[in-house]
Amino acid sequence: MIGRFAPTPSGRLHLGNLLCAMLAYLSARSQGGQFLLRIEDVDIPRCPRVLAQQAIDDLRFLGFRWDAPPLYQSARSGVYQDVLNRLRREGHVYPCFCTRAQLHATVAPNLGDTQFIYPGTCAHLTPEEAAERAKTRAPAMRLRVPDETITFTDRVFGAQAENLARDCGDFLLQRSDGLFGYQLAVVVDDTAMGVNQVVRGSDLLSSTPRQRYLLELLGCPAPEYGHVPLLLAPDGRRLSKRDHDLDLGALRQNYGPEEIIGTLAHCAGLLERREPVSLE
Ligand code: GLU
Repeated sequence: MIGRFAPTPSGRLHLGNLLCAMLAYLSARSQGGQFLLRIEDVDIPRCPRVLAQQAIDDLRFLGFRWDAPPLYQSARSGVYQDVLNRLRREGHVYPCFCTRAQLHATVAPNLGDTQFIYPGTCAHLTPEEAAERAKTRAPAMRLRVPDETITFTDRVFGAQAENLARDCGDFLLQRSDGLFGYQLAVVVDDTAMGVNQVVRGSDLLSSTPRQRYLLELLGCPAPEYGHVPLLLAPDGRRLSKRDHDLDLGALRQNYGPEEIIGTLAHCAGLLERREPVSLE
């Protein structure tokens, strides 16, 4: 069993991220499995190295230990490019010249995920047309999805089914500025790390059919998935890296690691009362 936590260091970790980290950790460890850390800084400009270092420091402070050095997505462009080339050779990928406004859903996995369905504008360009357009505009790369329903069972949310063509549409693997998309990076890296158990926030439940389809194309086994309901602030809003009240910067000033873990364990229903407890 190999589990992982894969934070995007575009801000300080907050309690919501830590709830996922804690449950991923406990799930793997309680089954005698390994736990790995991956820094999802594939969107390099938005994820400065100092924030990744801070995430690592916060996790150590809370008692997390991982069984291999962290994997940094920012160092893996060559690997993503090779996989993209392979998918392109096999006819699954086409260049897309649509403007940025239409491409808003690529890298950020948590934003507007399935609200935008690509209408297939560039799906049927001939190689000559594509070459002509490429003279004036760098294309993004899009994966052609089949009219096929992907099913899986989530450990928390149960049976899931999504028709990729109808509910999702052809999705981006690489943006026109060269940055690789989250869906591609996550699949390539989970495979490279041998991850067979994914525990993460439920905002990514809708990404899972796309990831499973990519795994199928690449001939890789799919991990099992458990999506954790999102932690909400008392006023009902979703915690965000933009709110600093519940991030580790503020929390570490007032609480020790065992108080923070104890609070999260209580939220998750693992402790009857809120009391300090170590992660182990
Ligand atoms: N990097 C993603 C996030 O911080 C998690 C990706 C994943 O666990 O697959 O929301």
